[in-house]
Amino acid sequence: MLKIDNLHAEIDGKTILNGLSLEVPAGEVHAIMGPNGAGKSTLAYVLGGRPGYEVTQGSVEFNGIDLLDMEPHERAAAGLFLGFQYPVEIPGVSNLQFLREALNSQRKARAEEPLTGGEFLKLAKDKAALLKLDPEMLKRHVNVGFSGGEKKRAEMVQMGILDPRFAVLDETDSGLDIDALRVVGDGINAIMRSPEKAVLLITHYQRLLDYVTPAKVHILAGGRIVTTGGPELAQKLEAEGYEAVAA
Ligand code: ADP
Ligand code: MG
Ligand code: MG
Repeated sequence: MLKIDNLHAEIDGKTILNGLSLEVPAGEVHAIMGPNGAGKSTLAYVLGGRPGYEVTQGSVEFNGIDLLDMEPHERAAAGLFLGFQYPVEIPGVSNLQFLREALNSQRKARAEEPLTGGEFLKLAKDKAALLKLDPEMLKRHVNVGFSGGEKKRAEMVQMGILDPRFAVLDETDSGLDIDALRVVGDGINAIMRSPEKAVLLITHYQRLLDYVTPAKVHILAGGRIVTTGGPELAQKLEAEGYEAVAA
């Protein structure tokens, strides 16, 4: 589903990704772990097409098409979802307005009919219930005054509504207490575990992987994948640290 080959990318002329190769087949969850500053978030931004991140070499195929050739909104319409380490606040726009607009613009790009107000509201309430988020929160402005855990749940509600084929989740577990971690982990499984879907889970810690078991764990260091293993690699990392495992 996702095939990254020898990817090099820079910010402000500084090389951050330096020959990164990675394949994630449909039906699998892969985790990326790595020390601070390794380039994990940069990879997520490059996949999303964020301005300022320049790809200088390599390729990314998404379901056989050239992802890097697509505009960010085209990537989203093709089924790519990005969950960010630091969700943005949008004062003046309610969650419901934001989510309905996001969903219907993606549907439009795929030549699908927009959902009616009633259909959309039912979908949003179902997904809020799945993530144990008070549906009243959907009426509030996007992320404004939300706790860290509420922002992450709201982001997973967004993922549930958009129903992507591929999700890149950047430190979705950061700032979550143990109960919220379970809810978010269960949500990821409910929304994304399917033979037609795949997930790239970027995380510092092994604990989310107890709920969302990956097929493979990759270690990113110095802008490339240096080691790949099974779930046990995450346990080893937790116990021994990056220095010992990625050397
Ligand atoms: P990670 O998510 O693995 O902690 P990042 O991808 O955020 O790492 O950052 C990788 C490297 O890129 C770091 O050295 C960071 O300082 C650098 N970097 C990130 N964003 C910028 C930027 N806008 N300008 C210059 N350097 C940046
Ligand atoms: Mg970081
Ligand atoms: Mg990061």
